[in-house]
This record gives sequence, structure tokens and C-alpha cells, in this order.
Amino acid sequence: RIEYAFIGRSNVGKSSLINMLCNHKGLSKTSSTPGKTLLINHFLINDEWYLVDLPGYGFAKRSKKVQADIEKMINTYILQREQLVNLFVLIDVRHEQQKIDRAFIDWLGENEIPFTIVFTKADKLGTVKAKANAAQWMEQLRDAWEELPPYFITSSEKRTGREELLAYIDEINQSLL
Ligand code: GDP
Repeated sequence: RIEYAFIGRSNVGKSSLINMLCNHKGLSKTSSTPGKTLLINHFLINDEWYLVDLPGYGFAKRSKKVQADIEKMINTYILQREQLVNLFVLIDVRHEQQKIDRAFIDWLGENEIPFTIVFTKADKLGTVKAKANAAQWMEQLRDAWEELPPYFITSSEKRTGREELLAYIDEINQSLL
């Protein structure tokens, strides 16, 4: 089955977003954690596709060794996983563009990994300000990116952006049939 993976810095709101996406009838959260991938969780959705929860990158509280191991595992998954269709990169909509996020995104580009940006915690700013911040954040990619990736603005608190994200995934699923 095909996979859609979610990644972002620690505390970006990844667990909340995944919970929001998973919880309603029809979306079953069946975590299957195969052997070695203790840190990569799979959730089977609609008996159709796997939502893959990747560990956070750039978490300062981890030791360098642990962090390096995690990054290696993430990179291997992203570069080698044939089932991976698209990666969702989560960004806290309140924040300026961070070097670590930017470096990660540029790395995805260099490796031609399809990805989509998901801005989180929009309710903390309100719709207007969240939209402005997100647009500005995206514009900053233009120095290196000819074509900007798609993006969504979400709030797990208010459950906004949920239908749009699921429809987007569904559209990709349909195009792959
Ligand atoms: P993770 O570490 O990326 O999995 O982040 P979590 O989902 O655990 O969220 C980190 C913190 O941000 C928690 O205190 C959440 O309650 C809060 N949070 C996550 N999403 C939202 C959101 O959409 N709105 C608000 N106001 N808070 C959020």
C-alpha cells in the first residue's frame, strides 16, 4: 500500500494533526510498527493508504548520537521507500522561516522528493494573519525554487484544513489508480 509521511520539528503539532486526520468514522488508526522501525509509526487509513508518522528533526534535547541515528533513519526512509507518494512537511505558521526547515526542504528538492507544506496552529494567529504569514514564508522559497510546492493552512485545535488535506490525498490516490 502507498504511504504519505508527515514530518516536522518537535512540537510543531504533528501528533495533533495526525489525530485530527485520523479521528472520524472510516479512518481507523491501526498502528503497526514493524520490527526495526520503532520510531516510524504507520496508521492504516480507510484500508487504503498508510499515514506514516516520522520522528521530528532538529530536536536539541536529544544527544548528538541519537539525533544523527534518527536523521539517518529518516533520510533512508525518504530516499528509499518506494511506497512513499508524498511527504507533508509541517511548519508552525507563527514562526519565521527556520534554517533547519529550509535546509530540509532544499534537500528534498535536490533529491526530487514530492512534498507539500502544512502550516500548523493557525488558530493561534487568526485566519488573516495566518494566511499572510504562510504566504510570506512561501515567498521566501523563491530565491531557490522556481516553482513553489503546494501548501495548506491548518488548525488541529479548530479542526480546519482537515477536509482539504484529505481531499488532496484522495486526489493523489485516484491519480495513481
Ligand atoms: P508534535 O511534537 O509535533 O507531535 O506536537 P503536538 O501535536 O504534541 O503539539 C505540541 C503542542 O502544540 C501541544 O501543546 C498542542 O496542544 C499544541 N498544538 C498542536 N496543534 C495545535 C493547534 O492547531 N492549535 C493550538 N492552539 N495548539 C496546538
